[in-house]
Amino acid sequence: MESSVQSESHLTNGAHRSTTEKNEDQLATLSQEIKRLNTIGKRFVASLDRFQVHRALLAALQDLYSFSACCVLLKSDPYELFIIPCYPLSPAFIQAMIQRIASAAKVIDFPHIHADQLAASAYLDAPDDLATSRLQAEVINTEIGSSLNIPLIVENRIIGLLSLFDEKPGTFDTELLQITAMIADYAAVALENVRLRERENALWRQAEFERQRLELIIRSMAEGLLITDAKGSILSLNSSAQRLLSQATTDLKKALPLRVLAASSTVSWLPRLTQIIEEAQTGKTVINQELVVGTTGENIPLTLSISAAPLHDAGGIMARPIGVVAVLNDVTSIKQVEHMKDEFVSVVSHELRTPLTAIKGYTQHLIRRIERRLRKQQTTEFSASSAQVEPAESYDLRNLHIIQSQTEHLERLVSDLLDHSQMQWGQLALHFEEFYLADLLSEQVRTAQASAEQHTLYLDIAVQNSKVMADRVRIGQVIGNILDNAIKYSPQGGQITIRLQEKDGDYQISIADQGVGVNPENFEHIFERFYRVHSAASHQYTGIGLGLYVAKAIVEGHGGRIWFTSTPGTGSIFYFTLPHQPHVLPQ
Ligand code: ADP
Repeated sequence: MESSVQSESHLTNGAHRSTTEKNEDQLATLSQEIKRLNTIGKRFVASLDRFQVHRALLAALQDLYSFSACCVLLKSDPYELFIIPCYPLSPAFIQAMIQRIASAAKVIDFPHIHADQLAASAYLDAPDDLATSRLQAEVINTEIGSSLNIPLIVENRIIGLLSLFDEKPGTFDTELLQITAMIADYAAVALENVRLRERENALWRQAEFERQRLELIIRSMAEGLLITDAKGSILSLNSSAQRLLSQATTDLKKALPLRVLAASSTVSWLPRLTQIIEEAQTGKTVINQELVVGTTGENIPLTLSISAAPLHDAGGIMARPIGVVAVLNDVTSIKQVEHMKDEFVSVVSHELRTPLTAIKGYTQHLIRRIERRLRKQQTTEFSASSAQVEPAESYDLRNLHIIQSQTEHLERLVSDLLDHSQMQWGQLALHFEEFYLADLLSEQVRTAQASAEQHTLYLDIAVQNSKVMADRVRIGQVIGNILDNAIKYSPQGGQITIRLQEKDGDYQISIADQGVGVNPENFEHIFERFYRVHSAASHQYTGIGLGLYVAKAIVEGHGGRIWFTSTPGTGSIFYFTLPHQPHVLPQ
């Protein structure tokens, strides 16, 4: 019994030993497999380009089989086929391989693939160290003995096809299929990584190319370009901007906000530039702001027109701007032309004024003479002759009043032109004197009435004393311009009421007509220079669009205000105020 137990125990020990040995063998094989896979994996991981992946693939496969070639077909656009031979192959063999690859590719979801196209786009990636023993041999392989196709898959996506070929039949052992598939998986991941890296590099190259192109465009731009960061510090100035702003003695690119630079600099225009940039920093687009950067001693100093816009990042326009981009244009030559034009207008206006003054003077003289004669005739007894002379004299007098009124209208036009050109250069001089506004208004109304037969001009002086310190000629010009308009823009005639009253310690003059009125869409432009309302009916009214522009400048020059109310088809009322004493110092 004992022996049997012993013998059983002996048997058991023997069986145990053989199981252990088997396990050890399996472990050794497994460890060898792991080592092999590790080596293969490292080779793939170290591959930086697709050719290195091919080398790693070939080496791994040659560890398993002795074969003629492996091929990698990639599903890019267009397809790419790499033929990696283990030794020189005949053209017929290569052709046969391509045929087989095209057929296999169709099966694994590679549409529209054609052997001829594949042949045209195939690359032969022969390793440098092709089997030397076979190198010298005559290339005779023509037929394929065995082949193996494995899809290359990354994250459940087929990216290509790996095909192995040999001249001999039965080369690709089914036992090694599993490890071959693993090698294909490694290769697929390595090829995908290479593709992503190549794409990333291409994008970087493209971005760098675009950057350089943009830099070149900015550098060669005739316009100056200035870019700031969110704090208002200048990040970049192209060469034109550097040239245009070269009069700044301060180093603009000090990485300090413009506000700080402006505060510590004596450059007169830096505060204005800062203001423009800061306005754009609030998200607004600033258009064509003038900045005189030249020295004021020059005839026409270097003048820039600046447009600035906020720079927004991907956060969109609702987010705070990350900076400002400003375009600087040299408009000095335009200013020069404008100056020449204004000088010309100024000279012509002066020349026109001289004969106008003479016409006005002689008309005045004739009016007085006839008035005197008429007065004399009225005082003498009715004689036989007086009954004949009086109607002719009165007729002449009326005509002379019309000449006088029209001459004054012409004189105001010439003055508007002259004043406008002077205003452009800040030279409108006001000559203050003391006078009575009521007198001036009566004079103006009388003259205007002479050539406005269809209208009834009604003057309402609602002040006790209308003494004022102002430029009499220019205030006359303002009243005349508004009156001219009231008559001109009420072609059907009607009443025109001119009222002088006191309002909040100032004089307020209003001129109300019953004319065509102004459409609300034109309200904000009426006082702009050369602005004229354009409508089907407006062409019948002549004018140059300067009357109200000049009137506004004169009124504001006295510290007053000008505005109007209007209802289309009903009429308009123009108002202006005049302080008793000018709010501004006489120049
Ligand atoms: P102009 O009369 O020479 O065109 P103004 O500067 O005097 O230039 O006036 C500008 C514009 O304002 C005119 O073209 C006209 O359309 C409008 N306007 C001025 N006054 C009146 C008014 N009393 N009634 C209607 N429109 C007027």
